[in-house]
Amino acid sequence: MEAERLQRASSPALDEILGQQFNVLDRGFIRVVDYMGNDSSIVQAARVSYGKGTKTISDDEGLIRYLMRHDHTSPFEMCDIKLHVKVPMDAWRQWIRHRTASVNEISSRYSEVKDERQQTLPDAWRLQSKDNKQGSKGYLEQSLGENLTINELELQQHAQQVYQERIDLGVAKEQARKDLPLSTYTEAYWEIDLKNLIHFLTLRMESHAQLEIRSYASLIGEEIVSRWVPLTWQAFKDYRLNAIKLSAQEIEIISKLIDPNRVSEEYLNSLAQQQGLTTKVERAEFIKKVRRITGE
Ligand SMILES: Cc1cc2nc3c(=O)[nH]c(=O)nc-3n(C[C@H](O)[C@H](O)[C@H](O)COP(=O)(O)OP(=O)(O)OC[C@H]3O[C@@H](n4cnc5c(N)ncnc54)[C@H](O)[C@@H]3O)c2cc1C
Repeated sequence: MEAERLQRASSPALDEILGQQFNVLDRGFIRVVDYMGNDSSIVQAARVSYGKGTKTISDDEGLIRYLMRHDHTSPFEMCDIKLHVKVPMDAWRQWIRHRTASVNEISSRYSEVKDERQQTLPDAWRLQSKDNKQGSKGYLEQSLGENLTINELELQQHAQQVYQERIDLGVAKEQARKDLPLSTYTEAYWEIDLKNLIHFLTLRMESHAQLEIRSYASLIGEEIVSRWVPLTWQAFKDYRLNAIKLSAQEIEIISKLIDPNRVSEEYLNSLAQQQGLTTKVERAEFIKKVRRITGE
């Protein structure tokens, strides 16, 4: 039997922005260096487990949404992306906690650190949140922020002078760097499969993530993933980014708020259809969830 000839999977919308620099913060950027696979690669891998079946676009969409909804994640590992990123060290420190990516970072033992730091504008100093110890809420008055911004610049310039002085005296770069601030930018190649990228975006596009890393994650999602794998992007938004988890107690409380007379099969079906749950399977799953909440 003659072997089936395959065509390399590509994503024309992503090809268009390959290498293009997207600016983030004041001096950071992200650009796509390379990628492998597209929405069809996910479907193709999943069909190995489910059999071939029909092959229309809407079937592909339904299958991707099913996989995302049910955490059948391995087909998403068939796609891969490599980004070149420039990030301040404090955000990078959070970024590389995601262990499932491959990283190659510029070496400040080998190369002199560039005089590039993230700077904060007078109206961009965030206040400590009172209800989330890790978060921020609102902004410091601009008149007070002016002074902080001037002080920041002085501190950064001083740190740079101290660093340069050590370098000029022949101190090793690996030691000269030790007092540079966390606002210093670093650069890296970051390669990750789509399953783990989805996990990264779920955690880092979420409102609890720090604004700086959230800015990078949102750009990766909205500018890159949306072009690369549009069906997966939509499923990600519906089932991860904009979805919520409910605890047993929360389900109990909600069950007390639901009027049992308003949850007939027909009514739920029409609501589901209005909200764009177009497949039968998805509507049936929705009705099952409502039944679980109402305890019927
Ligand atoms: C809002 C927010 C606040 C945070 N605050 C803190 C903090 O205060 N202190 C702190 O230290 N970190 C903090 N983190 C980092 C967080 O705890 C995770 O380390 C980080 O988000 C990476 O997530 P991950 O381990 O799931 O991702 P990855 O490292 O990419 O791993 C992906 C998945 O692979 C599996 N995996 C990977 N490695 C292992 C392993 N060794 N054993 C078992 N399973 C593994 C897990 O299922 C994991 O979810 C915070 C993160 C967020 C989003």
